[in-house]
Amino acid sequence: MDGNTLLEQIGATKLDRPANPIEDKLRVELAAAFRVAHHLGWNKDTLNHITARIPGTETFLMNPVGLGWDEMTASSLVTVDFARNVVSHAGIRLAPAGFNFHSGILKARPDVNCVIHVHERAGTVISSIAEGLLILDQGGCMLHGEVGYHAFEGQAKENDEVPRILRDLGTGHALIMVNHGLLSIGATISEAFGVMRSLVNACELQERTMATGGKVMPLAEELQIHTKNQLSGGNNAPRGDHSWAYWLRLAERLDPGFAE
Ligand SMILES: [Zn+2]
Repeated sequence: MDGNTLLEQIGATKLDRPANPIEDKLRVELAAAFRVAHHLGWNKDTLNHITARIPGTETFLMNPVGLGWDEMTASSLVTVDFARNVVSHAGIRLAPAGFNFHSGILKARPDVNCVIHVHERAGTVISSIAEGLLILDQGGCMLHGEVGYHAFEGQAKENDEVPRILRDLGTGHALIMVNHGLLSIGATISEAFGVMRSLVNACELQERTMATGGKVMPLAEELQIHTKNQLSGGNNAPRGDHSWAYWLRLAERLDPGFAE
């Protein structure tokens, strides 16, 4: 089924592709991120969002209500401003809770250009245990100093929750939304994607390790810091997903229709 037929099914008009080549490129990259995230099992539903700021504008791209992540195409992503005015497609709907905190983060944090939020199963499991996230392997060390926790307040559609989400994110790139799921941010789609991969991998590893019933051995903090420094080349922060070019090629192989 082509992209315009899918848009018709969710009651929206088709997008006249933007003349702005920067937005055009961003749409393709973001659609690829959705397809790969679906392939990795982060979301098999029509819920949850990945959003990306359109550089130099007061608008960002968001997935509409009703499409699965494996159905996302460059031209089905919605351009919306911070006041929730849709500027790309007539008739399209946006999820209120998703819009609320994605737009709130992008508006308050000019350094953040992409936000990913998922209810991936292992992430939701780890978000629901009192121990929180344990760092158990070298990949997880990239998360040292990056992970905040945000207490559950119900469906996150109340405006006044956004300042607490921002507070709980702090200076980190990852947020465990307690009894809920995972959130990552980045200066680029690649960076937010890389953080989410680290987070999902660490949650899956912890879930499986705990399930063995054996005594869990988290890495000592000094080792986490040392390993993070090694992995990041001394730059003590995430700098994008090192496999991003591979993920873009994978999206192409899975179904080149994402770029339409
Ligand atoms: Zn959620």
